[in-house]
This record gives sequence, structure tokens and C-alpha cells, in this order.
Amino acid sequence: MICVSLGRTRHKMVIAEHQQLAAKGAQLVELRVDWLSHLPDVGRLLANRPTPVVVTCRRARDKGLWKWTEEQRLAALRTAIVGGAEYVDLEMDIAASIRRFGPTKRIVSHHDFDKTPDDLEEIHKRMAALDPDVIKIVTMANSPLDNIRLLKLAAGAKVPTIAFCMGEFGVPSRILAGRYGAPFTYATFSSERTMAPGQLSFEDMRDIYHYDQINAATEIFGVVADPVAHSMSPLIHNAAFARERMNRVYLPFRVPREMLPEALRAFDWLPVKGYSVTLPHKESVLSVTNRYNGPILDLGAANTLYKEADGGWTAANTDYDAALQSLVRELNPEPAPGADRALSALAGRKVLILGAGGVARAIGRAIVNHGGVLMISNRTKARAVELARQLGCQQIDWQNRGTTVFADVLINCTSVGMHPKVDETPYAENWLREGMVVFDTIYNPERTLLIKQARERECRTITGVEMFVRQAARQFELFTGASAPVDTMSDVLRRAISPARSAE
Ligand code: NAP
Repeated sequence: MICVSLGRTRHKMVIAEHQQLAAKGAQLVELRVDWLSHLPDVGRLLANRPTPVVVTCRRARDKGLWKWTEEQRLAALRTAIVGGAEYVDLEMDIAASIRRFGPTKRIVSHHDFDKTPDDLEEIHKRMAALDPDVIKIVTMANSPLDNIRLLKLAAGAKVPTIAFCMGEFGVPSRILAGRYGAPFTYATFSSERTMAPGQLSFEDMRDIYHYDQINAATEIFGVVADPVAHSMSPLIHNAAFARERMNRVYLPFRVPREMLPEALRAFDWLPVKGYSVTLPHKESVLSVTNRYNGPILDLGAANTLYKEADGGWTAANTDYDAALQSLVRELNPEPAPGADRALSALAGRKVLILGAGGVARAIGRAIVNHGGVLMISNRTKARAVELARQLGCQQIDWQNRGTTVFADVLINCTSVGMHPKVDETPYAENWLREGMVVFDTIYNPERTLLIKQARERECRTITGVEMFVRQAARQFELFTGASAPVDTMSDVLRRAISPARSAE
């Protein structure tokens, strides 16, 4: 179950939003009475309540907004109990001074807004001695490993325990709380009104992560990245799992650069069955395994890890596969019977890649491996020279990229034109020629300035959305062994990249 936290300054607004939440399907609502600008009239909030409630009243030291005396606060909590609230939240230092009465369940809570303390088990033991129905322990995650410590605590607890972490590192523990025994997790009324760092909205928790369907049998997947909050991968993988009615969930794991092997070992406890791997881990992930699917050593980078039946990891690079598929589909060769379609599409084609980062390397390798005549141009010449050396291709100076090159295919692997700088392009409009294939790897927005100008000049185009969906679809296949619902994945991604953000 998801408990939605509701805090407003006026009783009238609390009552109205409580009704709205019930209409949206909320089953339990936390009334944060410390947010009210007047002394709370708890009886008024409980009368005709449309869902069961948790009544919570936080002091400033617990990052709450209570402005009156401690006596008045305890009185408000006692009124909630006398009024028959389903739950009342009692911080552990006051739990002993408020007695059990009637059917109201006692949540004994402890929050640490700075860290996940070393003595978690000791704290939990002290809380268990305070006559709780539910223990709630919430700490700040300063490391991805803190998620596992909290979930292990809940999984081993005799009293029902809600244990999760705050902060971007802590998001997985919020989503998995129920899988490890929490009677409910917490979410916020809307993504604009988070009450604690890392808190997800009710709608994201329900509609993206399908929280209430996660159970002990749910298989876990995720993306490892730093930062991770911007990633579209949870959105499209969870939509694909839901579409195929698979009991699987896909989470955002923020993992700092130096912590990858340690974090993956810790997440084995969950256990995780597959990862999308992105910045800054695409190269270092190769140290995790020596089993590869595709030319991973050539590429020096992978974006996928999936578990084999024997429990070992295999690394794959679905950016490589996706870019190749996108090019082959657009170039649409008619190969001689028995001939390789990718070779027929690319052999002898002049391809100019702009950029010399990870995506340029993956796509460049796909082109070279299939007989394309590759040229690399990059703002920082030394990187282009080095990549061209590795791929055995030509380097073009950045200032000459449009004027001295006649390419059949142009591929933008720079970040120029990406949201929010949507009025930039890495290639002047008058350098584009009719019939040229223009492939922009940027997916937000889908219609970059480069793509728009290429269409105006009657070039053939491939967008970053096509590539992004293909790389995710290939990951889905590696994760599940089933074919991916590609249309669902494209629809959800296109909807998330709203017209406003895409500067249509
Ligand atoms: P990266 O390793 O950080 O490389 C970034 C590249 O952009 C470098 O070549 C950099 O040149 C160039 N660049 C940045 N700002 C520039 C500017 N103002 N002018 C000219 N060049 C500039 O990144 P990456 O992982 O390769 O990703 C590159 C692009 O691919 C991103 O835009 C991303 O959106 C896209 N991408 C798409 C997909 C997909 O599935 N569609 C997947 C991953 C990434 P310097 O060397 O001079 O800094």
C-alpha cells in the first residue's frame, strides 16, 4: 500500500485534497497537521474522512513546521487517537508518553536527515520496546549501500517495519519497501510538492513502478548511473514489463563512479537480474565480468549487464546494435541472397560522425566493422585523432566538417542541440544535401534543429528516439528472453518528452 503525504496550510485545502486523493485511488493518506497555519482542528480533519489516515505532527527538529508548544503538539496527537485515526505517528522520544488507546495503531518513528547511522539494529531494538504496531525508520542515504542496510533491517524485523532511505541514493528502498515487509511506503501528493528528499509522487509510485504489484517473486532490474534522476529508462522498461504483464520492476540506482563493483555486489542481495549501464560506468563495467555478447572488447564499453542461468554476468552494448539497426533500416539495402544486410547497407558509404565520446565510439565501430568509410570530427581535436586512430579511419578538423566533406551519412554524436539548448545545431543548414541520411542521436527533443533542417532539405532522417527505443528494446530481450513491446516503449518515451520540452 502507498501512504500519500498531504500537507497544506488551511484545513479547507487539506479536506479538498484528501477527497481528490481518494478519487484518484489513494488508500491511505498521511495528514501532516504541522503544515497548518492555524492550530489544527484534528476532529474536523477526521470527520467524514474518505480514506484511512496517519496523523503526523513534526517539530522543526524533525524538519516539520510545528510552530506551537510541545504540549499542544502532544494534545493534537492525543486528539487524533481519541478521534479514532487509523494510525498516529509518534517519534521515538515521545512514544512512551502517549499511551495506546482504542483501535488507533501506533507508528513509532525515527528519522535521521544526515546519515544512515551505524547502530541501526540498536535503534530498531529500542523502538520495538515502545509498544509499536509499526516501526518507521527513515535515514539519509549517502551511499547506494544504505538502501540494502535498511531493507535488510526490515526483512529481518519481527515488528512490521517501514525502513527506507531519503535522497537520490535512497529511491530504490522506497520502491522496494513492501517487498521486504513494510506494510506501506510513503509518496507525495504531486512531484512539485515533495516533503522529503527523494520522495516520489503517488502517481509515479503507482503508475511507473506499480508499487502495489511488487511482491517477493518480483524480479528486479535497473539502471546504474550518476546522476540518475533524469534517466528515461525506468519509464520505458517499467511500461514494457507492465504491457507484457511480467512480474518485474526496473529501478534507478545512483552509483558513484568509484563504487560500481561494490554496489553491484551489495545489490546481489536483492537480487538484481539485469542492469542498463550508463555514464560514468560504461567503460569501468567491463571489470565486472569477462563474458561478453558482441564486440565489447573492441568497443571498450558496455551499456548492459544481464544474469545468466548460472548467476554470472554477461556484458552487452545495445547502443551498438541499435545504431546499426537504425542505419540499416533507413538505408534499406536489397542484399543479394545470402548476403549480410548490414554489410550491404554500409559497405563503401561515406559516413561523417560528429563527436568523439562513448556514443561516437560505439557507432563508429559498427560502421567500420561493416565496411563504411568513416570520418570523425570533434570539437577537441586530440580526442578525434585518438578515436580515428583506434578505429583506423580519417580525422576531419572541426572547422572543416561541413565545407570539405561530402558524406552520404551524417551522425551527430555530440550533445549540441539537446534540451534546453534546442536552438543549436552542430552542422550548418547549407551543408546539408538532399538525399543525405542525417542521424541525430539526441533524443530530447526528438525533433532537434538538425533534424528539422534536414527534413526541410529533403534529407532522410533517423532520430535519437528511434535509437533509444531500439537499445532499450534489445536490453528488454536480453533481460527477459522475450520480444519487446516496441510501440509501447516509443509511446511512453515520446509522451515523456513533452512538446514544451521538445520546442516543437
Ligand atoms: P560524451 O562521451 O560526453 O561526448 C560528448 C561529445 O559531445 C564530445 O564529443 C564533445 O566534444 C561533444 N560536445 C559537447 N558539447 C559540445 C559543443 N558545444 N560543441 C561541439 N561539441 C560538443 O557523451 P556520449 O555518451 O558520447 O553522448 C553523446 C550524445 O549521444 C548525447 O547527446 C546523448 O544525448 C546521445 N545519446 C543518445 C543515445 C540514444 O540511444 N539515442 C544514447 C546515449 C547517448 P569534446 O570532446 O570537444 O568535449
